[in-house]
Amino acid sequence: MKTLVIEDEKKIASFVRKGLEAQGFVVDVSLNGDEGFALATSRPYDVAILDIMLPGKDGLSILRNLRDRKISLPVILLTARSELNERLEGLNLGADDYLTKPFHIEELIARIHAVTRRAAGVSQSILAVADLKMNLLTRKVTRGEGAIELTAREFSLLEHLMRSPGRVLTRVEICERVWDYNFDPDTNLVDVYIQRLRKKVDDDAQHKLIETIRGVGYCIKADA
Ligand code: CA
Repeated sequence: MKTLVIEDEKKIASFVRKGLEAQGFVVDVSLNGDEGFALATSRPYDVAILDIMLPGKDGLSILRNLRDRKISLPVILLTARSELNERLEGLNLGADDYLTKPFHIEELIARIHAVTRRAAGVSQSILAVADLKMNLLTRKVTRGEGAIELTAREFSLLEHLMRSPGRVLTRVEICERVWDYNFDPDTNLVDVYIQRLRKKVDDDAQHKLIETIRGVGYCIKADA
C-alpha cells in the first residue's frame, strides 16, 4: 500500500509514518501543500492522508484541484475538532473520509482499508455483513431472504455502520455523517434511529448484528 501523507505538524507526520510503516505500508511524507500536491499528481499512490491547514496549498485546495483533474486518489482528511465546516466542505469536494485529531493509528489504518477497498471497486455497490446485504445502487436491503424497508435516514445510518464493520462509530460521528450537524449531547436521536434499525434488521434474526458499546456508540459486528 503506497501512502502519501501531507501534514506539516512533524510530530503527527512522524507518528503516522511510523504507525503505517509498522503495518508494511510504503509512506511518503510531505510537510508542504505545494510539494504534496506535486507528489499526488505525479506518483501512483493508493491513498492520501491530507491535513487541512498547510503551508503552501491548503488541504481543501489540494483536494479540489485533484478532483478537478479527475484524479480519483482516495483521500482521508485530518481535521481539528473545530474545523466542522472544512470537514463538510471536504466531504462535498470528494474526500473519502476524515479523522479528527487526535486519533489512534488503528483507526487511521481501518479507514485506509475501508476507502481503498471501496476505490478498488470490490463489491463497491454491495455492502454485506453476515447475511445482511445492502445494494447502494438499487438501495435494496435484505437480511437472508427477507427484504427490509428503510427510510432514507435509516439507510444512511446502516450504510455508515456497514462500511466499517467492527469499527465503533460514536454518536458524534453518526450525527455528523448522517445528519450533517453538530452533536447535541442532550438528544437521543441516534439511539432512537438505532432502535428502529434494530427492529428491522435484528429482531427476527437469531444473530444480532448491531451492537451497543456502552458510553461510546454503536458498531455492526464483522462476524455473526
Ligand atoms: Ca496543519
